[in-house]
Amino acid sequence: MSDLAIIGGGVSGLAAGIYAQLSGLQSEIFEGHSVVGGQCTSWKRKGYHIDNCVHWLTGTNPNKEIYQVWEDVGVLGKDKPVVRHDFFLQVDIDNVKAHAWRDLNKIKEELLAIAPEDKKEVIALVKAIKDFQSIELPALKPKEQMGFWDNMKLLWKMRKAIPVAAKYQKLTVGEYASRFKSPIIRQLIHNYVPNTYFAISMFYMYAMFSCGNADLPLGGSDMISLRMRDKYLQLGGKISTNKKAKNIEIEGTKCKRINFEDGTSVEPEDIITATDISVAFKLIGEQYMDNHFKNCFANPDKFPVFSDVNIYYAVDIPTSDIPSMEIFNTEPFEVAGRNHQIVIVNNFADQPDYTPQGKGMLEILMVQYDYEYQYWDELYNNDRAKYKEVKMQIAQEVMKRLEKHYPQFEGKLSVLEIVTPKSFNRYLGSYKGSYMGFIQTPKVKKEIHPGVLPGLDNLILAGQWLQTPGGLPNALVTGRFAIQRLLKRKNQLDKFCCKKK
Ligand SMILES: Cc1cc2nc3c(=O)[nH]c(=O)nc-3n(C[C@H](O)[C@H](O)[C@H](O)COP(=O)(O)OP(=O)(O)OC[C@H]3O[C@@H](n4cnc5c(N)ncnc54)[C@H](O)[C@@H]3O)c2cc1C
Repeated sequence: MSDLAIIGGGVSGLAAGIYAQLSGLQSEIFEGHSVVGGQCTSWKRKGYHIDNCVHWLTGTNPNKEIYQVWEDVGVLGKDKPVVRHDFFLQVDIDNVKAHAWRDLNKIKEELLAIAPEDKKEVIALVKAIKDFQSIELPALKPKEQMGFWDNMKLLWKMRKAIPVAAKYQKLTVGEYASRFKSPIIRQLIHNYVPNTYFAISMFYMYAMFSCGNADLPLGGSDMISLRMRDKYLQLGGKISTNKKAKNIEIEGTKCKRINFEDGTSVEPEDIITATDISVAFKLIGEQYMDNHFKNCFANPDKFPVFSDVNIYYAVDIPTSDIPSMEIFNTEPFEVAGRNHQIVIVNNFADQPDYTPQGKGMLEILMVQYDYEYQYWDELYNNDRAKYKEVKMQIAQEVMKRLEKHYPQFEGKLSVLEIVTPKSFNRYLGSYKGSYMGFIQTPKVKKEIHPGVLPGLDNLILAGQWLQTPGGLPNALVTGRFAIQRLLKRKNQLDKFCCKKK
């Protein structure tokens, strides 16, 4: 058996594996599913390529720390093209259109023309986004390994963002949006994040897009996970798929053995769990849960999670005449007992390999809060036929609205796939179907878990749940940090492959 067993082959597990191999450790990834990638995944339906993850990848700007990490794991680089949009979102409210332009002057001009009454707030919004462009996600060293000068350097880089963060730190996205009189600007601010989200995360999102640090790899989610898989294998790593861990046997302070559902077991020297966090605690036992995670699970109002219903439609003609992402308002329709009055459309026209020639594909995103997970869970467990029927009813309702908004698609849409929060839970074990980690609200500061648990000497945690609000960049860096933490524990940090960066 290898020195190191990594349970879970999502982005965090693959990153941990790559850095382990680069640092001279022999590792093996055990993935419960038939493929690696975890939530960063795609699959085929009727000749269409369903990409059920990346809408943007933070870290595409070579001047940001995180870019180096994406480069190390083989995802980004000079020869790896990204799709760069002029705007990432168009909002259409009653036929008035506003855009989240990459060019901040364009945002300012457009919003001032639409809503001169919001002039003061529009100017403050654009300034806040500009100042937030200096934000760095610390990506090279885990927090506890950063020295005085590392912290000073980071603070200096982010000096413009600090006053903005202080000014808006107490507001949710919903509260911040309500400062604007114009409904279309309110929607542009809300965009598609839950309204309980930290207002600051919206500035971050727009800032990263406008400074060229949040684009889409050509080829989407597959390009991320398959490039990581290939890099890991090239470095001599081993992947075992369909290998679902059942539990970890612990003796004293040592994790002794991983037992798998197929009846086999391994006894590695060290273990990294890179699964959903709820799965990690099922494997080791909840008695090992530390105060950090106890607090997160016990206080869903402070640490909410969210999910989506995603519907994919095949379009019988190309969709290149509509924006890559659009939100429009519509007559209400019900999903999990709550009325939705907007439709969020993601168009894949700029990913030419996703559809058969001459065809298009649309993805619809419907945010689901954690309390709505129960609805999907009960429906799936109690009445499978009804679960399917409800999904299809929603898809039909949304289809009517799409046909009204895009008359050119009338009679040309058909349902390809419907994903609910229950799907994420079934396939990946995701807690309440969440596809991010605990999200950040004004009630808590950014939470960063140290990746180790008291009483366990040879287990390190990785995965998006260690750093609010999760997502691909947080998953990635926790994989790297897991190896730095492991080596530090062994007094072998000098072996870390990329220590000079
Ligand atoms: C619809 C959607 C859209 C998204 N959009 C974006 C986006 O635009 N930008 C962005 O940054 N992020 C986005 N994300 C989030 C991103 O995909 C996740 O943050 C990231 O992939 C999480 O990686 P992870 O390694 O932490 O966890 P996971 O991907 O959950 O990986 C955990 C792995 O562990 C495996 N596993 C679970 N239990 C076991 C077990 N018992 N034994 C063995 N293996 C096990 C799972 O099968 C899985 O492969 C999106 C996600 C979804 C679903």
